[in-house]
Amino acid sequence: MEPINLFVPTFRIDETLAEIRDCLERGWTGLGFKTVEFERAWCDYTGLPHAHFLSSATTGLHLALRLLREKGEWRDGDEVITTPLTFVSTNHGILHERLTPIFADVDEYLCLDPDSVAARIGPRTRAVSFVGLGGNVGRWAEVRALCRERGIKTILDASHMAGTWVGDRHAGWDADIAVFSFQAVKNLPTADSGMICCADAELDAEARKWSWLGINKDTYSRTLSSGSYKWHYDVEHVGFKYHGNSIMAAIGLVALRYLEEDNRHRRHLAAQYEQELAGVRGLAVVPIAPGCTPSRHLFQILVEDRDEIIVQLNRQGVFPGVHYRDNTIYRMYANAAGSCPRSAHASDRIISLPLHLRMSEPEVRRVANALRGALEGAPA
Ligand SMILES: *Cc1c(COP(=O)(O)O)cnc(C)c1O
Repeated sequence: MEPINLFVPTFRIDETLAEIRDCLERGWTGLGFKTVEFERAWCDYTGLPHAHFLSSATTGLHLALRLLREKGEWRDGDEVITTPLTFVSTNHGILHERLTPIFADVDEYLCLDPDSVAARIGPRTRAVSFVGLGGNVGRWAEVRALCRERGIKTILDASHMAGTWVGDRHAGWDADIAVFSFQAVKNLPTADSGMICCADAELDAEARKWSWLGINKDTYSRTLSSGSYKWHYDVEHVGFKYHGNSIMAAIGLVALRYLEEDNRHRRHLAAQYEQELAGVRGLAVVPIAPGCTPSRHLFQILVEDRDEIIVQLNRQGVFPGVHYRDNTIYRMYANAAGSCPRSAHASDRIISLPLHLRMSEPEVRRVANALRGALEGAPA
């Protein structure tokens, strides 16, 4: 029996190798060249005004906080409201900046609940970090509106949201900063890379400096357009080496060409799951927010006895995943344990079913049957 795995990254190999070959022949694998082309292609596709290509979403989420912190003159210990139901990257960036993560609870979409966010806002709240879990937009618009009223910055961890549309706009258009992941198992897979998209041109320019050791290349490109005197750049402040490279951008450029088609396939598989699982007892499908055309990075359900159900699925050759365990169960965030009961409840029940581009309709049916068997005790 062929195993059915959670994720299977799929690449258009010849087309991707041709883009990479272009880098090798040109002798240009680093920053510039394909990274610039990919940034432009990403802005064209999403309609977002600015995009800066980075080595990962993890670096992007950290950089987002550094940029906002610098601009807003935040102090050590100022607060960022965040979700406990995420990959730890979202929250590590807060600590890297010596800020305090304040965990708010999730709603039925497993995204931050605006009421819980509102209840956590205090005099030192500077930003809210919202995760579009599985590509779902949840109640982001409400969270963003209440932040805007109070002058609180918004960061959208859009790691799952490459190709999520809300109405006719791409996710992230109304965030102060949106960060996308192009890690190997995400909807737009490279190997490791990401994109930071700032609403504000000035912040975008800062992102470019901070991601390359604080070097201000504009100084030389403005004054010495001939291209000579390349060593005449200025360094304005300490920075990071967070920028992406042309090899990753080459892979991303090809993946982007197929993103819409690929996400349509994912939505098709998700719709089939919904049909197959309708009426199965002991299972709840996590809903998609109205008006959202999700990337369908994940198809998530909630069940009792989750760990045992997964063991039974494994026996049938089905290998799902868990996104995520409530971060407050980790030792480093244990001070917030128990503060988000809905997240804790979901954390013990959530399953991400296999969903990837090589999956066929019979395989979706096989997963659904295995799940029905596990839940209803009938032979699968
Ligand atoms: C994958 C992921 C990240 C980190 O992305 P990288 O590109 O691997 O650094 C951050 N947040 C969420 C929600 C993710 O799924």
